[in-house]
Amino acid sequence: MIDTKFSIAHAAGRFDMALNIIDGNPQMFGLIGTGNYYSLYKMMNTEEQQRVADAAFLCMQSPGISRDECVHITHDGKVCCYILNIKLTLDGDAYDIELINVSDTENRISELNRRLTTARDYISLTGETIFTYYPDTQRFYMYYIRNRQNITLFDTDFDEWSSEMISQDRIQNEDIETFETFCSILKSANFSQTYTFHGCIISDANQLERYRVTFEPKTYENDETVVIGTWAVIHETTGDTNTSMLEESYIDSLTGLLNKKSIMNYAENAITGKNCAHVAFAIMDIDDFKGVNDSFGHMFGDKVIKAVGDVIQNAIGTNAVAGRMGGDEFLVVFEKFTDEIEFRNVLRCIKTNVAKIYPDQMKRHLTCSIGLARYGVGPFSTTYHDLFKIADRSLYLAKIKGKNRYIIYKPELHGDFNVQNDDDIINVSNTFYSETDINALQNMLTDLIVYGTDSVVEVLDFLAHVLTLNRVSVFFGDSATPAFTNTLPPDVPAADPSVLKNLKYIYLFTNNLLAVSNLQSLEFSTPEVHKLLSDTGVTCFMQYLLRDREGEVVGLISADVFDRFSAFPKLAVTLFSDMCRIMNGVFLRENLI
Ligand code: GH3
Ligand code: MG
Repeated sequence: MIDTKFSIAHAAGRFDMALNIIDGNPQMFGLIGTGNYYSLYKMMNTEEQQRVADAAFLCMQSPGISRDECVHITHDGKVCCYILNIKLTLDGDAYDIELINVSDTENRISELNRRLTTARDYISLTGETIFTYYPDTQRFYMYYIRNRQNITLFDTDFDEWSSEMISQDRIQNEDIETFETFCSILKSANFSQTYTFHGCIISDANQLERYRVTFEPKTYENDETVVIGTWAVIHETTGDTNTSMLEESYIDSLTGLLNKKSIMNYAENAITGKNCAHVAFAIMDIDDFKGVNDSFGHMFGDKVIKAVGDVIQNAIGTNAVAGRMGGDEFLVVFEKFTDEIEFRNVLRCIKTNVAKIYPDQMKRHLTCSIGLARYGVGPFSTTYHDLFKIADRSLYLAKIKGKNRYIIYKPELHGDFNVQNDDDIINVSNTFYSETDINALQNMLTDLIVYGTDSVVEVLDFLAHVLTLNRVSVFFGDSATPAFTNTLPPDVPAADPSVLKNLKYIYLFTNNLLAVSNLQSLEFSTPEVHKLLSDTGVTCFMQYLLRDREGEVVGLISADVFDRFSAFPKLAVTLFSDMCRIMNGVFLRENLI
């Protein structure tokens, strides 16, 4: 038997000063029990009794004002949560009380959402674009549905839009009359109609498309009339709906996420829209992706990018919209979250699942770095460009802090990104070095020449900082103790110069005096060196052979990284080799080698 007591959605009744029921609708009696006076108080726990008594008292003090309290009503051992709305009656000797069943409201909302979702899914399957026209304001709103989100194509004044379409030659000449008829009938908001004409409105391309536009005016309960319709791209010969045009111009073909143009457009609309206060941008970049391409080929790289796209989409669900900015970089636009923990949960989920992408093939865990900026957090964070910049700088910070992490920007933790000038950051294939750092490094080179070995450790330390290396050491001869090294974190194992004894390894240097490597590349060429270095925990490194005046190898400078796999960007290699060459000269001058 259905327990009607607990399917009560809305109960209303009149109660005396002790909240004993006087009168009520059947639901209220059903809930409380008919026949004898029964106090509502007795159905609540003491804490709730107190709150309701306080609310009743306040109602008494200010007649006409109603109060809401959340209460749990226990009956037959079952508990149900209600919003209790209480108000003093007009003659002031009783209370009117309504109980609104929270879970029932939730159920109803979730049922409505479910139906809405089904409708959205259906519409997105048909691939048609939806539009609405509001006769009162003449606003025209056209969008398509992707991952259950509305992606806006136009949100504009209708007359402006329609004359633009003609003046920009987006309607085929022969069809302008049809288009104009469509416009005037739509504006009259009186008829349901279907029109077919050619143009290039949806895909934004120069290619002509055939459209089938169907609409219908609707008048809602509040007397507002809205014209709603669908805008389909039709296959020229078969007459089928052709979604590929739409797909091609708005969707990134590799990942199925939005492409750069449409995600940026979406982001900009989001931040200028009504809900801007909840907007956040997350920029995500795969770590050391070049290494994936280099080791396993571009095709495999593409599969990885696609898998990362899937991970992002699964993690955000319908809570955000994601697009690929190009290469291994993605942008996620959040609009629904209000709490930092919600962002963290999503970012953590992305990070965890990215690590599960093709682990067997890659023999390592793929990682990514993410920078997230929230609207209004920190100075200059309310325009599209500013928020984008903060997200980008946060990503950069995540990269230089060692990658494999997400940073949710907070000015108190990360400083004010706006104090830096845009020109201050040099972008070398997505690896950023600060111009100040590079200038400082150049000055140190001069010091090195002038002051000799006095400044070597300082230079090593700074080099490590700028290029985010864990350790830089100089070895002379085959001594295992470095002659110079930057300050080491305590748990970092010592380097091993015995690689110098490995002739095959030394031959790797002969062309360019410098071996730059990701450890994996040594696995087959010089397995002994590979073992030696991987045993010490090194994941990637740059090494430079020190030579005496006769060109004999007499030492080694090794720049080591322990916590990530990386191909060093060209600038890092150049800076490192320049530094080493000068150090070599200084060591010769001071007769150390
Ligand atoms: P970092 O950790 O600093 O991000 O280094 P990274 O190796 O990931 O390098 P970066 O992000 O700077 O460069 C991304 C690389 O992605 C550059 C390019 O070779 C490669 N790439 C760009 N587009 C594509 C693509 O469509 N497919 C594949 N397979 N690779 C691409
Ligand atoms: Mg990358």
